Amino acid sequence: MTLIESISLLLGLTYAGSLLYFGGQKWGAAAMALMLLAALLAAMVWPLLLGALIAAGLYGLLLTFKPQLAKGEGRENAIREPIAHFFGLSMLLVGLQYLAYHLALMNGFGGYLTRPDVVDAFLPLAGGIEIKAIVTLGLWDQAHPAAAVMLFTVMLSAVVCKRAFCGWACPLGLAGTYLYKLRKRFIKGDALPPAWIDWPLRMVKYLLFVALCYLVIFGLPTMALPGYLSGHYHLMADAKMGAFFLKPTLISGTVIALILLLAAWQQQGFCRYLCPYGAGLGLLSMLSPFKVRRNVDACLINSKGMKCDKCSRACPARIAVHQRITVRSDECQACLRCVSACPKKEALALSSRWGWQLSARGVAVVMMLLLFALPLAAFIGGFWHSAVTDEIRAYLLPYLHQLGM
Ligand code: SF4
Ligand code: SF4
Repeated sequence: MTLIESISLLLGLTYAGSLLYFGGQKWGAAAMALMLLAALLAAMVWPLLLGALIAAGLYGLLLTFKPQLAKGEGRENAIREPIAHFFGLSMLLVGLQYLAYHLALMNGFGGYLTRPDVVDAFLPLAGGIEIKAIVTLGLWDQAHPAAAVMLFTVMLSAVVCKRAFCGWACPLGLAGTYLYKLRKRFIKGDALPPAWIDWPLRMVKYLLFVALCYLVIFGLPTMALPGYLSGHYHLMADAKMGAFFLKPTLISGTVIALILLLAAWQQQGFCRYLCPYGAGLGLLSMLSPFKVRRNVDACLINSKGMKCDKCSRACPARIAVHQRITVRSDECQACLRCVSACPKKEALALSSRWGWQLSARGVAVVMMLLLFALPLAAFIGGFWHSAVTDEIRAYLLPYLHQLGM
């Protein structure tokens, strides 16, 4: 575990504990503090111990200078936006460290920097194959264990609170939002496709998702899994992914250009039309008990006969919230922008049919617990750090373009 990973993880969990405490869940906060202490004692490695000190200092600064945010007070957007930027910044720093690690390795300075294992989160295909190996053969891959951990964690988050990963944590989604805002500065307006084009376009990401699932389930026979997981292609899967973006070929360059164009053209254009991860989360989100629900008795439309569509206008997924009682859309990211925009506090909420409500504070706690506590548990359990040594990586790097599945 690198120092950047440790600080992010411990700051996230400290913040989740703080939200529990100030949200009145003092026992939950105490359990979180005990869990963190037990994890630090069980791990006893310097990045985590130093990370804990730095995270405590950063949290102290947050409590001093942004007490409202530290306590999770204020409207939904005021909580979600800083959290999304926290995840984005954390992944940006991790990405830079990974880049520096590889440059050092290529120039014969391997061993001076540590590879952040969380980059394996960008290997969903490898993660899927690893999960298949665990389920069918009881084989736990040691080359990129974090890929399986992160895939499982993100998919689990969709079952609990819909596509909150997309709305609260995805660094690509955040980058796309900035690209869209930049485009709007120079080219005003939105040329949105009509519904009869939009729907088939949205299905493209499901086709990609089905293709990836097919590859994982049928493309690789179970008996071939041990050979695949010990093969050079899998050992260097992260470097192959990095090269896809950093050394584009005609095909990868076209894909990247398409992703950038989509993100700039429409708000969350890439998420809406192309992201297979989002498609998987969208399908799993159907299982979540939580949905955005409109209380018609409190909504201004029904209670005051007013014309109001503030919730719909705030929705990045273009869902007509003001015309629904329950938002069941696979595009809903539990971002709570609609709730934040609604002038009537009781009119909209993310809730279950039994009346349980998940506030912004609640979504934040669930996401931080899942995205940080599970990787921490995996690390302590010995299923996080890649066993591929710097020597093996340095040896295989010159042959990267020759490695195939
Ligand atoms: S319906 Fe509300 S929570 Fe769902 S994506 Fe739209 S704004 Fe976000
Ligand atoms: S913003 Fe609130 S009050 Fe207005 S339509 Fe939506 S739910 Fe009703």
